[in-house]
Amino acid sequence: MYNVCVTSKIDTNATQPRVRFRSDRCGVVLERLSQVSGGNDFLKKMSLRFLLYCKTWRQIVMSYNRNTSRNRTAARLDNIPYSDYRGINNPASLCYLTSVLHVLSMTPRFPEAVKRGSATHSLYLDPNLDKLFSDLEKCTADIDDIAMALGITEADIYQQRDAAEYFQKILCGTSPAAAEMFQGALKRCVKCHGCRTKNKTDDPFWSLPISVGPGLRLYSANNLEMAFEDVFTPTTLTGDDTIYCDRCQAREDATIVCGWQHRPQILTLQLKRFQLDYLRNRYEKITCCIDVPQKLHMKGCDYELYAHINHYGSLTGGHYTATIKSYETGGWYDFDDARVRLLCPQPFQQGETAKSSSAYLLMYRRATCPPAGAGRADAECVDERVAVTSTGCLARPSDYAWIP
Ligand SMILES: [Zn+2]
Repeated sequence: MYNVCVTSKIDTNATQPRVRFRSDRCGVVLERLSQVSGGNDFLKKMSLRFLLYCKTWRQIVMSYNRNTSRNRTAARLDNIPYSDYRGINNPASLCYLTSVLHVLSMTPRFPEAVKRGSATHSLYLDPNLDKLFSDLEKCTADIDDIAMALGITEADIYQQRDAAEYFQKILCGTSPAAAEMFQGALKRCVKCHGCRTKNKTDDPFWSLPISVGPGLRLYSANNLEMAFEDVFTPTTLTGDDTIYCDRCQAREDATIVCGWQHRPQILTLQLKRFQLDYLRNRYEKITCCIDVPQKLHMKGCDYELYAHINHYGSLTGGHYTATIKSYETGGWYDFDDARVRLLCPQPFQQGETAKSSSAYLLMYRRATCPPAGAGRADAECVDERVAVTSTGCLARPSDYAWIP
């Protein structure tokens, strides 16, 4: 529900009646509605009580369509692009940053977490993020402060950069309490074939790289669920890929097995679309179409997709947007810098999988959790093939030099 609070009455005598609400996205659509021919009459007919309980622009339009005989105006209203959310101004080529910030602003409980952090963690990015999220409640927001805090200078703003890199930079610079929901960790076990010794390590991550296209070893290159399973499939290292074993004091064949150390509340998958082409000795973009599942089923944990960051174009000259599901309205929106629109048709209406050749970062939110007791819960998530005991302490980057 929106936090609706009327700050002025509807002035129905004005040529362009205006309705203003504080902290209410509905105010935007009502303002737009008042500018449409016929909107004046429409607003006069609507009771203030009804306006207060309108949740979305769509509800207003539907109500209008039902109750009026002025079909022509109703059709015009229906054709107006609308959104319940506001965008972020991109002054140059910062779409890699605006797309990430849109996702963070729409991630449940993250804005509240940085608001709490901004009171006590002035050295982190929490105050900058909190200001941006507050601005987005009122208007199209600017990102000058955050860009500066991330070390992006005026000379850099026309350079195309990687959204995944800045997703990680922002989370590294956010207070641990706020960023925690994105933190995951794998257990990695390397077994030497010579001496049978097992070396076990924790591998914390903000986003989990997933091979797609030609990089995938065992399964269909277009199926994300199978590509995800590939991460946990044992890998044998032979030939040029052998490891140096301290105990054998020689290069030996080895097997690597991965399992879960800690499953994050928000699981971010990074599709490895930018890969080195060894034959041409240059990076290339893999544009293959991927079957993106709405739900990821795992033992004891189910995840549901709520956002993905898309990359269009080539390696050197492209554009990022974010596609995000609102937990307030239940609708999927396209966030393209300052432009925000409700998607029509909505994704996942034809089934639980959507095809995408542009999806690059996929954000899944944990839908079901194991019973209470975090330590126990994480232990249950660990793949039984890797019996490793660990404190599970996640490493954090020690270099915060880029934060002013
Ligand atoms: Zn060995």
